Amino acid sequence: MASPFEYAPAPESRAIVDIAPAYGLFIDGEFTEAAGGKVFKTVSPATEEVLSEVAHGSAEDIDRAVGAARKAFEKWSALPGAERAKYLFRIARIIQERSRELAVLETLDNGKPIRETRDTDLPLVAAHFFYYAGWADKLGHAGFGTAEGQSGAVPRPLGVAGQVIPWNFPLLMLAWKIAPALATGNTVVLKPAETTPLSALFFADICRQAGLPRGVVNIVTGDGSTGAALVSHPGIDKVAFTGSTAVGKAIARQIAGTDKRVTLELGGKGANIVFDDAPVDQAVEGIVTGIFFNQGQVCCAGSRLLVQESVHDEVLDSLKRRLSTLRVGDPLDKNTDLGAINSAEQLARITALAETGEAEGAERWSPECELPSSGYWFAPTLFTNVSQAHTIARDEIFGPVLSVLTFRTPEEAVAKANNTQYGLSAGIWTEKGSRILAVASRLRAGVVWANTFNKFDPTSPFGGYKESGYGREGGRHGLEAYLDV
Ligand code: NAD
Repeated sequence: MASPFEYAPAPESRAIVDIAPAYGLFIDGEFTEAAGGKVFKTVSPATEEVLSEVAHGSAEDIDRAVGAARKAFEKWSALPGAERAKYLFRIARIIQERSRELAVLETLDNGKPIRETRDTDLPLVAAHFFYYAGWADKLGHAGFGTAEGQSGAVPRPLGVAGQVIPWNFPLLMLAWKIAPALATGNTVVLKPAETTPLSALFFADICRQAGLPRGVVNIVTGDGSTGAALVSHPGIDKVAFTGSTAVGKAIARQIAGTDKRVTLELGGKGANIVFDDAPVDQAVEGIVTGIFFNQGQVCCAGSRLLVQESVHDEVLDSLKRRLSTLRVGDPLDKNTDLGAINSAEQLARITALAETGEAEGAERWSPECELPSSGYWFAPTLFTNVSQAHTIARDEIFGPVLSVLTFRTPEEAVAKANNTQYGLSAGIWTEKGSRILAVASRLRAGVVWANTFNKFDPTSPFGGYKESGYGREGGRHGLEAYLDV
């Protein structure tokens, strides 16, 4: 079931990407139908238009894919790091060349604004491949053993990695998983999320374009049952999962007692802390980026605003004025700030949690904005008068909904920020460098941004405390997750 994949420079429009009516699974370098021929549809969340029909992988397909990855592992892991690096550099360059096409594709399948896929996601995807390509021949210098050709223990790859990713950054999560796995000499079977399978299938084509040996990367599309079959397959040596805390816990239970390695990147409820000395305009931009980037469907979103009581009114007035300027609508329009919610299920979840916020007594506010009549949409929303006991202050909403709380002292800010089951991210807004250091060192969050938010870099490790998961992806630390050290 091959499909036309051609790069054609054109304006940022639907026409730039050629989506085939049907896609197969990518196993052992070929697109193939699922055993049993089962398929599912993927739709554009902005219009509900069916984009394509995609093969639904079963346990049998997973078994084939793991077999292909196992076979490929022997040769791939034996290649000198410098040779593996060449493939990764090639993949990175093809991603750059095809980035406009991929950005439009991702925007169509996910619903996020083209400005984000074009200016944030795709450059980061390429950057991850470039970054880990650079490590492939330097693993012995990464602090995990000795270098190739020297005596001593050279760090070894784990084997076949089973990787399961969510829908919020489909191609970026793929890059976070595949780039370090390949650089360290592992082979992979990756399962994309059921609502955003297309960019992973285009990536499969990029692997072919780059001449990557068969079986090194396998993509099996499907739903949670496909993911569960992958995670529980005895031929998998390492599980890398990004998704909800509930599924992460189920996976941890499933693989307990096996010798599989695991990294879990799960949910979050990040605190964005604004002190009274922070420049209000900059802080407001950071609050907006923190919670409305990608419609708030970001694990490390700053979904709890903690604002110092003395500047609460000033910050809220300014924030409301700024929110009134946000443009919600067609994700393919380069002026759009907020696109569509990824699925009807996610929209229902956001709607229900926002209703709970009102029912529990918080005050709801949204700017006036007209939402398109078809597709899945949710207006940017603020809740004030929120207490720590409120559901909207505790549960991950994963949507464009901000819960505003206040504090008086830095101690209270730290206590409130840490009062969560999660520990993925936090932000601090203040002019005082000493306060940044003092507060950051007491926050139980994997990443703490100072006077910025939602900034990502492949050199920097990412991961959580508590129910946000364990293990780190990105940077030098990200290599360790794929090495026997
Ligand atoms: P999800 O857990 O429902 O699904 C994630 C993936 O797991 C999908 O591919 C799904 O098909 C698969 N899956 C479902 N059940 C499975 C099972 N039993 N075994 C194996 N795989 C299974 O999450 P989602 O709704 O797609 O994504 C949103 C969640 O992901 C949010 O909670 C968000 O915070 C989290 N997330 C975390 C990070 C991070 O780096 N920490 C990044 C992005 C998203």
